[in-house]
Amino acid sequence: MRGHELLMIPGPVDFEPEVLQALGAPTTSHVAPVFIEVFGRALERMRAVWQCPSGQPLVVAGSGTFAMELAGANLVVPGDRALVISTGVFGDRFEDLLSRHGAEVTVLRAPLGGVVEPDRVEDELRRRRFKLLTVTHVDTSTAVRMPLEPLGDLGRRHGVLTVVDGVCSVAAEEIQQEAWGLDVVLTASQKAIGVPPGLALLVASPAAVDAFAARRVPVRSYYADWGKWLPIMQSYEARQPSYFGTPAVNLVVALGVSLGRILDEGLAPRFARHALLGGAFRAGVDAIGLRQLPLGEKARANTLTACYYPDGVSGPALLAAIGRAGVTVAGGLHSEIKDRYFRIGHMGAIRAAAILGTLGALETGLQEAGHRFELGAGVAAAQRALSR
Ligand SMILES: *Cc1c(COP(=O)(O)O)cnc(C)c1O
Repeated sequence: MRGHELLMIPGPVDFEPEVLQALGAPTTSHVAPVFIEVFGRALERMRAVWQCPSGQPLVVAGSGTFAMELAGANLVVPGDRALVISTGVFGDRFEDLLSRHGAEVTVLRAPLGGVVEPDRVEDELRRRRFKLLTVTHVDTSTAVRMPLEPLGDLGRRHGVLTVVDGVCSVAAEEIQQEAWGLDVVLTASQKAIGVPPGLALLVASPAAVDAFAARRVPVRSYYADWGKWLPIMQSYEARQPSYFGTPAVNLVVALGVSLGRILDEGLAPRFARHALLGGAFRAGVDAIGLRQLPLGEKARANTLTACYYPDGVSGPALLAAIGRAGVTVAGGLHSEIKDRYFRIGHMGAIRAAAILGTLGALETGLQEAGHRFELGAGVAAAQRALSR
């Protein structure tokens, strides 16, 4: 097991002791009254965290990719047109997934590190009728954040369902699902939600549930079928026993604890904390002289930072040196530049110490690797940003 180390990757993140303790409690029956109560309350808490009072929450065992499938498999029938906004690997994954379910997919791809402007989306929506629009809120391969509010608005005006991959943003970056008119916002447990890997989570708007109910073609995936899962979720919320597939009992208990802690912190303070810590980390890497992947401050996510290796610095050697200082960061993911950059996650229950410690380890590693900069400049810049 890990000792006193920092896990600063874009998921899984460091989990709080209370959450891990909940995970280790004796497993109950999935229809035990005590578990039904916990599951029911977790679903209610999701509605609050997603800010979607009239939404239908779904919790099914699986990773974030399965959450994408839970949306795609149920909302498209073969021949439907889908518009995918791609700012990296996970946008491209949605293209692949929706095609698999028979959709005719059009992709609006951002230049590497850039966003797709809403005007481009609107032009496309004017040209043809789409059933579905997908967007990755924060693409974990590029650290690019897309603005969601204009897209929810476009979706409403053009009668298109909007599906948000919020795996790297829900509970860390602001999302007002209902007010912004977003139909599905999906995530996974192991990122800013703060629960070990294994749960696919989403909240669907009434319009998304209606679109599912109107389909005449069976869902191709048996396990992902909302027709199987919606009655289960409704039963748990009504505090009634039900069964389709055994839920991940311990993970759901841990989810209830983590959602409770998120709501105790408060959504606005939580988003502000991520903005402050993310901004401090970016100020630090700027001061060290590292170039970030996202083009411009507005496109930069608060949940992770992506930086190019400086010239002459070996990526594997740098990551190993950072690791020797007790911090784990992640390598590159985007196939075009995989070996030229690295990623640092800073989401969940972290505090300033994690930001300062990670920058310190990064500076130590860069110095060992021969990068020329003023030692301590990154930590100092972050401290200045934190005390502002
Ligand atoms: C992590 C991630 C996924 C995939 O989640 P898995 O749990 O690895 O399947 C999808 N989209 C985004 C934006 C992610 O960050």
